This record gives sequence, C-alpha cells and structure tokens, in this order.
Amino acid sequence: MTSVAVLGAGILGISAAVELLRCGARVTLVTEGHPASGASGRSLSWLNSGGEYPEPYHQLRLAGMDRYRTLLTRNPGIDWIRFDGGLHWDSDTLAERYESQRNKAYDARLLPAADVPVLVPGLDPAALPPAVLFNAGEGWVSLPHLIRHLLHEFALRGGALVTGAGTAAVVVEGGTAVGLRSEAGEFYPADAVLVAAGAGTSAVLHRLGYQLGDRSDLAMLVVTEPKAHGLRAVLNTPRVSVRPHPGSRLAMDHTWYLDQISPAGDGGWTVDPQVAQDLVDEASSLLAGHPRLVPQSWRIGLKPVPGDGLPVLGGVPGLPGCFVAFTHSGATLGIIAGELMAAELLTGRPHPVLAPFRPDRLLAAQDPALSVFRAAPAP
Ligand SMILES: Cc1cc2nc3c(=O)[nH]c(=O)nc-3n(C[C@H](O)[C@H](O)[C@H](O)COP(=O)(O)OP(=O)(O)OC[C@H]3O[C@@H](n4cnc5c(N)ncnc54)[C@H](O)[C@@H]3O)c2cc1C
Repeated sequence: MTSVAVLGAGILGISAAVELLRCGARVTLVTEGHPASGASGRSLSWLNSGGEYPEPYHQLRLAGMDRYRTLLTRNPGIDWIRFDGGLHWDSDTLAERYESQRNKAYDARLLPAADVPVLVPGLDPAALPPAVLFNAGEGWVSLPHLIRHLLHEFALRGGALVTGAGTAAVVVEGGTAVGLRSEAGEFYPADAVLVAAGAGTSAVLHRLGYQLGDRSDLAMLVVTEPKAHGLRAVLNTPRVSVRPHPGSRLAMDHTWYLDQISPAGDGGWTVDPQVAQDLVDEASSLLAGHPRLVPQSWRIGLKPVPGDGLPVLGGVPGLPGCFVAFTHSGATLGIIAGELMAAELLTGRPHPVLAPFRPDRLLAAQDPALSVFRAAPAP
C-alpha cells in the first residue's frame, strides 16, 4: 500500500487526500493551523466556466462543475451546493462574452432586465442594466461545508490529520521526497508528497530550491448576518459579486476596496469595517425590497493565483515523489483536481487532461545550473 503525505488542508489537499484513501493509500494530511484556514475558508466559490479560457482549461472547469452536480445529486438534502444560475453584468463586453459562450455551447442567454424576475428571483429589476447575461448552469459551493463533509469521510477511511503543524516542509533524501516535517520537527514519512499549500505553495517550493511563478493577491470575503432574502443565483456586477450562503446569509466580494486593506501587526490584514458595510450595501441595492444587510464577518488573506493564471497540477520536475496542486479556481476545480492528482500520484501515469497544466512551465531552479527542466510558455 502506498503512503502519501499531503501538505495543506484546504479544498485541494483534502479532496486529494480523500480520493487517495478511496484508492487504498495511507494518508497523512498536515496543515499549519486548522482545515479551511486558508483561501478555502473565505472564498466566493462561484462554480463556472464563463470566461475566455483556453479550451483545455474550459473542459477541466466543466468537468469540475460536473463533479459538483454529482455530489449534489447524491446528497440531495445539502444546502451548501446550488446550481441556480449566474447573472453577469460586470463587463462592458457583455455581448462578446455572450457570443463566445454561445460558440462553446455554454448555457448562456442575454436577458432584458424586465425578464429577469421570471427566471432569477430576488432581484430589483430597477437596479439592473437594460440587459444581463444569464448562465443557467452555474452555481456555488460553500467550501467550509464541503471540507467538513470530506473530512468526515477522511476520518471514516482512517486518514491521519495533523493540525497546528506550523510551517511544514517537504523532506528530501537522496534527491527524492520522503515525507513532511512540521515546524516543531515532527517527521511524517511517506512514499510520495503532495504540496497543496494554496498561496503558501511558492514558499514551500522555494525551500526546495524552486521558484514558482506566483501572482497570489489579496482578497476579502464578507458574509452577512442571517436575513431573509430571495436571491438564489450568483451575481457578478460592477461593484459586488454575491451569492447565497447557508443559514439565510449572503457571501460577497469584489476588488474596488483592495487598496484600503493594510497590514495588521499580527501578520494578517485589516480594513475599516465601513468598507464591509459599503460592500453589503452594494448587494442590498440590487435585491428586491433592499433588505438591510449587516456584515457578520469579513475575512482577508491571499488568494492563490499561479503566474499565468492557469492551474499548476502534477509532479515537480527533478524531484521524484513530490507533486503540487496550486490554482486560482480551486473552488470550481476542488473535486476534479483532487481526483486527477490522486490517480496520477498512485498510478505514476500522467493524466492526459492535466498535460497543459504541468508545473514545469512556471517553475525555475533558483540556481539555473541545477535546472533539469524547462520554463515553457503558458499553454
Ligand atoms: C475571496 C475569494 C474568492 C474566490 N472566488 C472563487 C470563485 O468564485 N471560484 C473559484 O473557483 N475559486 C475562487 N476562489 C479561489 C479558491 O477559493 C481557491 O483557489 C481555493 O480555495 C484554494 O484552495 P487550496 O486548497 O489550494 O488552498 P487553501 O485553501 O489556501 O489551503 C492551503 C492550506 O495550506 C496551509 N499551508 C500553507 N503553507 C503551509 C505550510 N508551509 N505548512 C503547513 N500548512 C501550510 C494553509 O494554512 C491552508 O490551510 C476565491 C478565493 C477567494 C479568497
């Protein structure tokens, strides 16, 4: 039986860990703090493939959405995955976006504002522009709920979870990854290692002598106190992106306030609470009846973004036994990426769907003389 040590208990690490257990591996999951303490704990998690993506990435995202539909069908009572559509008007190129989506047979409809209430409840038609883009097949997930769900299976299948490990590192012996070591020095030996450390991934690889193209950036998710609202779709608008959240809440983010976030003394970030209030007010202005929304939490931190915006999934070149999973779209890809990475890791056979997303394109050795791989252009 193969043993695997996974670094990082965000959605990618946990999803891969559970899939590895399903396939018969022994798994130790080692994380800095607690599960979902990174980006997965503060993600908008819009499940979509509506952007201008290279075809292989579009297909991977569609497969990712498909896995969520299956999960929802198999767990019909859950309230933390929904496919009630996405409404988009955050762009002055709406018509082009619509055309491009239609050309790919992506479920897309340009709706006059007056038609919106028929298909998309909970909105004030007066707050809408003359036309909006409706993508009926899109949805959302609450990742902390999904993580709890997966951790239940992880425990039932005998996975070992190590929380509070501090800044853990990959241990290399004889040029091969042989396990993980916690900040306090505890060693977790394994036949293979998966680094799924979110925005911490480049730091983990840096300790191994690699530089990873990384544009991880600040983000803030605001979740409201419970309030009756009729919204079911995900909205992407010029001033707020918003989705329903379990418990009659709404979750939302945007980018217009990012320059108002400043470092806090404890290594985190801080923002004037009025910014969170302004964001929920933006959401309220779009909703039927303009409910008075109150921010319950606003969580700030880095959002993992690979240097070329595309996922980084596969073996680390020049370091047998070490694999990496790092992506911007970790909600949409959360289940599929774990599934495909686990298969690769256990069989040793590269999965063809992951071919365009190999780490080597964004990795360079810190000492170029030691480089045994190429730095290729993005696919
Ligand atoms: C505001 C926001 C909105 C988003 N919107 C969307 C969206 O609409 N659609 C979408 O698909 N995606 C979205 N994303 C992105 C998605 O949420 C992330 O890609 C995904 O959650 C990343 O999961 P992860 O497991 O890679 O990383 P994380 O969830 O960050 O987990 C990594 C874990 O590793 C731990 N770790 C890091 N370094 C170490 C170390 N050295 N030792 C031990 N532990 C370590 C961290 O503590 C953390 O718990 C959004 C993200 C944010 C923040």
